[in-house]
Amino acid sequence: MGKKYDAIIIGCGPAGMVAGALLSNSGKRVLMLDKMDRPGGRACGFQYRGITFDYGMHLMITSDDGVLGQTLRKLGINVNWKQIPGLKVFTDGAWKDMMDLAPLNDPEFGNIAAEMMAMSEDELVQCDDLSIEDWLRKRTSKDNILDFMRGMAMVITTLPDANDMAASEVIFSTARVLKTGKFAGVPEGGYSRMWEAIADFIRSKGGDIRLNTSVGQIAINNGKTAGVMLDIKKDHEFFMTDFMLSEQELIEAPIVIYTGMIWDLFKIASTEKFPDFFVKMVKGFTGNTTAAVGWAILAMDRPATDSLCHHAVYKLKHMGLPMQYLPITNIDPSIAPPGTHLFIGGCPCELDTNNRELMEEKAALHKEDLEELFPGIWKSVQWGIKGTFTGIDGIARRPRCVGIFRPDYKAPGIDGLYFAGDTVRSRGVGMDFASRSGLRCVERILNEKFDIE
Ligand SMILES: Cc1cc2nc3c(=O)[nH]c(=O)nc-3n(C[C@H](O)[C@H](O)[C@H](O)COP(=O)(O)OP(=O)(O)OC[C@H]3O[C@@H](n4cnc5c(N)ncnc54)[C@H](O)[C@@H]3O)c2cc1C
Repeated sequence: MGKKYDAIIIGCGPAGMVAGALLSNSGKRVLMLDKMDRPGGRACGFQYRGITFDYGMHLMITSDDGVLGQTLRKLGINVNWKQIPGLKVFTDGAWKDMMDLAPLNDPEFGNIAAEMMAMSEDELVQCDDLSIEDWLRKRTSKDNILDFMRGMAMVITTLPDANDMAASEVIFSTARVLKTGKFAGVPEGGYSRMWEAIADFIRSKGGDIRLNTSVGQIAINNGKTAGVMLDIKKDHEFFMTDFMLSEQELIEAPIVIYTGMIWDLFKIASTEKFPDFFVKMVKGFTGNTTAAVGWAILAMDRPATDSLCHHAVYKLKHMGLPMQYLPITNIDPSIAPPGTHLFIGGCPCELDTNNRELMEEKAALHKEDLEELFPGIWKSVQWGIKGTFTGIDGIARRPRCVGIFRPDYKAPGIDGLYFAGDTVRSRGVGMDFASRSGLRCVERILNEKFDIE
């Protein structure tokens, strides 16, 4: 016999957690489901060598002034944020503060900054099909302004080339940084604690959270959402083959929010339920995501830098890719044992991350680059991990792959089915983007505007 909820949320990543917390706070009985064994989605923590790492750097743009931070404040969930004061870039053979490179005294840059900060959502939509390079070139031909903005854009989009970066996305997030005066931050102690705190909040409001639970099907009857079917899988080894027995459990709810990668929607809901334009749109985005390679974690007996800033290189000399690195233990020493200093990062790329040989070649070149960027670094490395990641940005934020070109929060033609996450419509960077989509989705469901931007 199934149970009934007001809303079921598929996915406990940032989008799902924000949506779940806001709906619970509005008096809805919520069920959160995730196939993983912990909340956080792609921003979850994992244990390695006794340290709880976040899966990736996971700096939150605009820190606690982002949607997640504002939501936590609204709900009274107490999280301390460690500020990342800015960005250092390697240029002309040295690490330089990004703001020192900013052409702040140039009136032409001032006009561009003012225009970015004043843009409404309707105006941003007009830039959804433009690259930031094209948008900027209509306003300036000065190399210092172009280079400054290209640098911001690489960090914001994790795409290597400014011609591939959607103008609306770069404008939105640059404007947010300029307006809040905050570059980025991380929750003290890492993200896991924060996701657990949000999960506790949802439970305290009568909600349930089921991990290790895979949704096999969204139940849709006569154009209306009825709930979800859970796969309760039992795998058996049988002679030389595997076979799977699958029991299913129906859980009823008039509202379902799906937050997984949008192209995986059709694994749990038949394409026949949706209009053709939507199926075509979603299929067109399949696998259109971003990736990173190189040394993902370095544990050292002394820090490679004293800086609290994020570090970026637009093009590494040997590897030929951009690089982003965060000296996380300078910012929050609590995440590692005393005497262990962590550097977390990677190199955004559009390479085949399944090609192991190529990945090893790139990591070898990355090692040389790191030695030149932080002389002597390898002498202090206790251990390091090479990594390849796909799905950093849900859908790569290229022109015509953002904003109005993406699926809306409400499923077309199906009552009660909604979407959130970094593969649907929203604005921002990574977790902030996903959190904002969770917020907007709940606003649509409740027909209410929250005081969160
Ligand atoms: C290596 C790496 C580094 C990153 N660094 C940063 C960074 O520095 N800053 C930043 O802002 N962002 C960063 N990101 C991006 C950020 O992690 C994502 O933007 C964010 O997690 C997206 O949140 P989401 O809720 O949309 O999706 P997800 O986090 O992917 O969550 C979706 C959840 O849905 C679950 N799910 C899907 N289908 C089902 C199903 N059928 N049944 C049950 N559960 C299901 C999945 O298991 C998953 O947990 C990084 C990502 C990676 C991979």
